[in-house]
Amino acid sequence: MKTKGYVVKSAKAPLESYDFDRRELRPRDVALDISYAGICHSDIHQAREEWGPAIFPMVPGHEIVGKVTQVGSQVSKFKVGESIGVGVFIDSCRKCASCNAGLEQYCVEGMTGTYNAYERDGKTIALGGYSNKFVIDEDYAVHVPSNLDPAGVAPLMCAGITLYSPLKNWKAGPGKKVGVMGLGGLGHMGVKFAHALGAETTVFSHSPEKEADAKRMGADHFILTKDAKELDKYKQSYDLILNTVSADLDLEPYLQLLKLDGTLVVIGLPGKPYAVNAGTLLGQRRSLAGSMIGGMAELQEMLNFCGQHNIVSDVEVIKADYINKAYDRTVASDVKYRFVIDAATF
Ligand code: NAP
Ligand code: ZN
Ligand code: ZN
Repeated sequence: MKTKGYVVKSAKAPLESYDFDRRELRPRDVALDISYAGICHSDIHQAREEWGPAIFPMVPGHEIVGKVTQVGSQVSKFKVGESIGVGVFIDSCRKCASCNAGLEQYCVEGMTGTYNAYERDGKTIALGGYSNKFVIDEDYAVHVPSNLDPAGVAPLMCAGITLYSPLKNWKAGPGKKVGVMGLGGLGHMGVKFAHALGAETTVFSHSPEKEADAKRMGADHFILTKDAKELDKYKQSYDLILNTVSADLDLEPYLQLLKLDGTLVVIGLPGKPYAVNAGTLLGQRRSLAGSMIGGMAELQEMLNFCGQHNIVSDVEVIKADYINKAYDRTVASDVKYRFVIDAATF
């Protein structure tokens, strides 16, 4: 299937226009015309090989929303014309304990990424969402509620689920104090979800100009982190802190903010190891944890939750030829709050 998109041909090379073919439909495949594709900071980390050697040519993009145009002979979940979403993985082993539990993102064989991965044949390079068409096995796609703006839905496919999943897992809700570090693509979704779940929500940010937006999204408090002393006032007061910061930073002052049995969940993935002071952890029986996206069932649950609560991402819609500039602005924390590419411009 003839497809137009944007590609990174080698590490750190700028993105450029690219024509390529996607596979014709297998019996369980669905074809879609992409409407919008979000730009996740993970796209930038991988395009620039900040996580180690990557697979090129790379068509990044794992926040995909579109309309079904064709269905394979055995497809039962989707009909032509429906809204459909595709996220961070396109396949998994389908038989391990994690896959059977609906936690495909933790597949013991490794999930098959939407890009920067080989498909399960071990040789076909998976090409992602910065493109106008996509083909996906129906088990790895979700239904998109029709009341939501599709441009704002695209980032839910990674940024949204990545914050929804830990908030649910660590039981954010009424009576809980939740902190979100970094008000970027992921962080702003964390604020919206934590607020909707009823938790008292704080944003920790190094960008003073984001305070009004944070409050509008539902944050009860906004703490500027430029002055480390500011954090000292809040020691031992949080149940749960989600770190979405994409850059290296010292976790120690944030661990100290956790109360007895509190948990700091690492979500941002700058690529370098964190140093941890054991005394800070054991002093208040604190936990340092990690969380990666969410499984297919939870992805659908999150989209239904968004449909019910009218939650979408705040987006800046761009044309394809703006992607390189958008990368630089994302790295500079200068996006409100997710760039989304209009797929009609590929
Ligand atoms: P993003 O939109 O660039 O947001 C990151 C935020 O981190 C920025 O908006 C900024 O917030 C803060 N930040 C950036 N540089 C900083 C610095 N030097 N010092 C302090 N704060 C800084 O990125 P994103 O798309 O949300 O992704 C965030 C991270 O999560 C990335 O590392 C990404 O790879 C990772 N990720 C993980 C998963 C997962 O499954 N665990 C999924 C997707 C992405 P303020 O301006 O408010 O300070
Ligand atoms: Zn992502
Ligand atoms: Zn598996």
